Amino acid sequence: MLSESPNFWYKEFPDCGKKRQSPININSNLAEEAGHLRHFDIGDYLESGTINNMTVWNNGWTVTVQVESNIKIKGGGLEGIYSLRHFHLHWGFQNARGSEHSLNGNSYPMEVHIVHRKNKVKDKYEALKDPNGFAVFGVFVKTSTSQRYIFHTKFRSM
Ligand SMILES: [Zn+2]
Repeated sequence: MLSESPNFWYKEFPDCGKKRQSPININSNLAEEAGHLRHFDIGDYLESGTINNMTVWNNGWTVTVQVESNIKIKGGGLEGIYSLRHFHLHWGFQNARGSEHSLNGNSYPMEVHIVHRKNKVKDKYEALKDPNGFAVFGVFVKTSTSQRYIFHTKFRSM
């Protein structure tokens, strides 16, 4: 039986005892800019990237959208080039508790994780063994009654 507190999950799941754990509360008063990091190059999202096929599925804990695309990212301290593989959603039963992570103690109704895999690894299993095998962009999502689009990119479906 799973221990009651995440602080003890490592007893049954040793990976939960490692230092790079979720969820993270980002405290903007304590956060510091890492001066050695450069901007991400996300030009494929903004210009030439295309999505050729998407498969939506329920994996039992979230909605996952598997993506076939030529979208790649680099920079930002990443080791080489990473390709878009999928995105998935984190949400809850209440808008006040949906996102996996939080900002200054505040959760958001939903969080989108856009998952990229390092091109130098051959598959997701090899990527899971590499501490830098994946690069994930997390985006907090707010609810709104407005129909204004806050994000637009050029996606093409076949
Ligand atoms: Zn996630």
